[in-house]
Amino acid sequence: MRCPRCVQTIHRSAAQCPHCGFVLSDLDDLYGSGEVRLRRLSDMAGALRLKERQKLERLLDEFQTSFPQLFFSVYYGALEDRANIRQFGLWLLNHAAYEDLDISRPNDGGILLLVDLNTKVASISFGYMLDSFLTEEDTFNILAKAHPHLLQGNHLKAASVIVKQLSRVLRKKSRRAILQQKIFGPPINQSSGAVNALERIRSNRSNRSAAEQDNFKSIQTTRAVNKEKEP
Ligand SMILES: [Zn+2]
Repeated sequence: MRCPRCVQTIHRSAAQCPHCGFVLSDLDDLYGSGEVRLRRLSDMAGALRLKERQKLERLLDEFQTSFPQLFFSVYYGALEDRANIRQFGLWLLNHAAYEDLDISRPNDGGILLLVDLNTKVASISFGYMLDSFLTEEDTFNILAKAHPHLLQGNHLKAASVIVKQLSRVLRKKSRRAILQQKIFGPPINQSSGAVNALERIRSNRSNRSAAEQDNFKSIQTTRAVNKEKEP
């Protein structure tokens, strides 16, 4: 993972960032140490209309059907400090108590899309269960595809692109991992939790509908050239 403060690569289990000295409890000092009661889709900032919220909720349901241990959550806020969106995202995913999610989906298997309406900057945070399947490069590329829609204030379109692209990456990576496992045997350094998640991802990938595949194609062909994502 990358350090949420200095953005250098650090080991996920590192207690402290070797580059800038960041520790997770620094975030508690900034934002608080308690739980945050949250819904999977939080739109404090009023980014979406009712119909758009319903549409996005359906997309998030589809994501959960495809990935039974994972969930996707979206938070629209009007943050005060642009520089802190990455830190705030990580803190929020660690402290959120989701009212509308079953305990069978722990935050470790969560993906959080955080959108700051003040700066039109978005950030994706994810739990450690996703470490085997997602890289910072993946989330950067996915955010880049949604960036033009964010700039236009089309938040439903931006979130839809992100959920669908992310699902696509997860499916692709899980297929590759399963194939490697079949040929070479299970990787020694992979935790059993990750392998289980992977098995579940694989067993549900047939849920993808033809319509969804068409969507992927159209997204690919309209790939954004603007690579700017976040500070
Ligand atoms: Zn650091």
